[in-house]
Amino acid sequence: MPRTQMLIGADWIEAGDRATFPSHDPATGKVIAELISAGPADVDAAVHAAAEAFDDWAAIVPAERARLLLRVADLVEQHADELARLETTDQGQPLPISAGFAIPMVINQFRYHAGWATKLTGITVDVSIPDIDYRTRREPLGVCALITPWNFPIMLLAFKLAPALATGNTVVIKPAEQTSLSTIRLAELCREAGLPPGVVNVVTGGPSVGRALVEHPGVAKISFTGSTEVGREIAATAGRSLKRVSLELGGKAPSVITADADIDAAVAGNLMGGLLNSGQVCAAYTRFYVARRKADEFTEKLAAGAAAQVLGHGLDPKTQLGPLVSAEQAERVDSYVRLGEAEGATLVTGGHRADGDGYFYQPTVFAGVTDSMRIAREEIFGPVLSVIPYEDEDELNLVARANDTDYGLAAVIWSTNIRTANRIARRIRAGSVYINMPPLLDPAAAWGGMKASGLGRENGFDAIEAFTEVKSIWTAL
Ligand code: NAD
Repeated sequence: MPRTQMLIGADWIEAGDRATFPSHDPATGKVIAELISAGPADVDAAVHAAAEAFDDWAAIVPAERARLLLRVADLVEQHADELARLETTDQGQPLPISAGFAIPMVINQFRYHAGWATKLTGITVDVSIPDIDYRTRREPLGVCALITPWNFPIMLLAFKLAPALATGNTVVIKPAEQTSLSTIRLAELCREAGLPPGVVNVVTGGPSVGRALVEHPGVAKISFTGSTEVGREIAATAGRSLKRVSLELGGKAPSVITADADIDAAVAGNLMGGLLNSGQVCAAYTRFYVARRKADEFTEKLAAGAAAQVLGHGLDPKTQLGPLVSAEQAERVDSYVRLGEAEGATLVTGGHRADGDGYFYQPTVFAGVTDSMRIAREEIFGPVLSVIPYEDEDELNLVARANDTDYGLAAVIWSTNIRTANRIARRIRAGSVYINMPPLLDPAAAWGGMKASGLGRENGFDAIEAFTEVKSIWTAL
């Protein structure tokens, strides 16, 4: 049985007379753990524990902070198999995704950001005032609230936790209520690595726990990954108290397939980009703008590839596609599919929940989708792919259609003409544009959204900036 207590300061908090809620294996619908619903007093205690630990943690010499982060990475590596199985059982993603992608990314995040701990610099500037020495320092912000979603729980936490700690902040983590188990285990490994009590705290529960953190006066910064709707609410609340915020929000990535594209490569890459984690990916490729003369071939091959996916429990080695995370998410996806039919799109394959226990959904392809349909405009977060043929070879018009969305997280262009691909890439309004490849991530590569897809960037030096503030120090000579 995985640990289900909350971590506040040095203490693992038991449920006692607090309310609890179940966590399910989405492939079977069975309850695998009972988690604590934190109350306002728990949130307050966690923020105080983080605040109390802050001065000492920020003052630890950088080399020691780096050593501790490297130790966390080593422990995650030693427990990689256990963590991958835990993530798969709680979230549903097939083991090759948790073991081959998510957990290695956690390890890489801690190693990459451990490097930054010893490389933070300020500058000296010759200001134009006589007899003044002027320099800057990059300083941590204080207590940071890290609020995460359910699609890649431990990996997306590492995007925040590693840079927050590397730069000397302390944190209170609020994982998604559907998938808290790997977060609690990572916090346990952080303690085992030797991180002092209070540097990492975890409170579990639903939206009210996140809200209490966002409103808490002791929190200096909120780093949130989740839906655009909640991101807007957080930004509004944080705006009133002028807390720092980073927001990684929803997406509706266009995939442009030009007439000269390698269709087989495009189909393979789009199946991966569109169906990874059953489409529960913020960067998922979901609306395919395909040159008319290639549209039939592309749709046929995409549908055949989608229909051939093997659905099953993520721990089963034959599985290619796991379940959706919850019954609620399966309902939501199904309602979008019904909407697509009602809007007049042509269902080519899939279109229903799969038989059996668990929250499985058949990979679904729609043809004949138009720009204005809601399935082409709203984030579905499931295995639903929409093909939108285009007649007009005018690049500007094509780019305008791809950009005709509130979102701006990711986009991809499939073309054998590198000039065409790069011209389109420059004009697309998205934080990350890929050419002839699925949406990969790297700790050194900036990640984040334009427009309603977010505010700020994670990874690379952007993450260091997001968790620090620049102080000017002036000295009269
Ligand atoms: P969500 O917004 O419902 O919840 C995210 C987290 O916020 C959860 O921990 C939840 O409990 C908490 N929360 C909910 N309401 C809150 C409130 N009012 N105040 C504070 N916290 C609150 O999102 P989700 O359904 O868990 O995740 C799916 C969404 O996340 C999708 O829109 C997806 O695109 C987005 N996402 C974005 C990225 C990215 O990098 N841009 C990555 C993964 C997921």
